[in-house]
Amino acid sequence: MEVYRHYQRLRTRHTRKILAVEQVNVWDTAAFTPSEITPRFSIEEHESAHAIHRQLMSNHQVHPVYADGPHFIFESFAIFSEFLLADYLYLHETDPSKKRYYLERFFDGKGMALYFTAQDAALEQAIYEGVQRGEVESADDLDMLTYQTINRFDIWVVRHDQVKMRWITNQLFYEDPLYCINYVYGSLLALKYYDLYLQAPVPFVTKYIALISNGFDAAPDNLLKEFLDIDLHDPQVLVDAVQSLEKKVR
Ligand SMILES: [Zn+2]
Repeated sequence: MEVYRHYQRLRTRHTRKILAVEQVNVWDTAAFTPSEITPRFSIEEHESAHAIHRQLMSNHQVHPVYADGPHFIFESFAIFSEFLLADYLYLHETDPSKKRYYLERFFDGKGMALYFTAQDAALEQAIYEGVQRGEVESADDLDMLTYQTINRFDIWVVRHDQVKMRWITNQLFYEDPLYCINYVYGSLLALKYYDLYLQAPVPFVTKYIALISNGFDAAPDNLLKEFLDIDLHDPQVLVDAVQSLEKKVR
């Protein structure tokens, strides 16, 4: 958890400096990026990666029954693509302000989903369980549950009372119930792909393209093991992901 809190503190400090204010509001730090200079490209990158994945399966003549699979795997491919673009731009940019922006895009384009989206996924689960037990009946109950859940992760919820209203703002809770968790596992896997890619780009790319072209003719853990030698059940996958975030944040 420390890596996420450290990241939040860095953003708070930076915002305080740039805006020349003592009290930083959590929403200021979320909004403060030079988006007038560089657009927020993560969404386009993410959705086009989904399209490319489907195109590759189609080129590979994957049988329609195997063209759909677990959503966390779909998301892992799209998130990996977000990482590639943000990190490429970060490494090749010389202007410090844009460089910082691209690094921030890496983290906010789901690099930190392990912590940020995990709060939403945990909250959503807690809401379902709380309602079932008859403990969540009002907006105040949802506020309290949100506070308790987010407080396990976040440094801002104790300072900014409005953070406890986050349950209102997550569209996915209403549009696509229980989907958030796919981004958490997707991000975890994408961080693993990114590590493997950095270790040996050429062999990784060959194996990765084979995986995303293959379709889902086996269980996801078997596919990951067969194509990329990733053991989805090994806790080391999570340890490695946290370490790679730590390296980038510090
Ligand atoms: Zn997606």
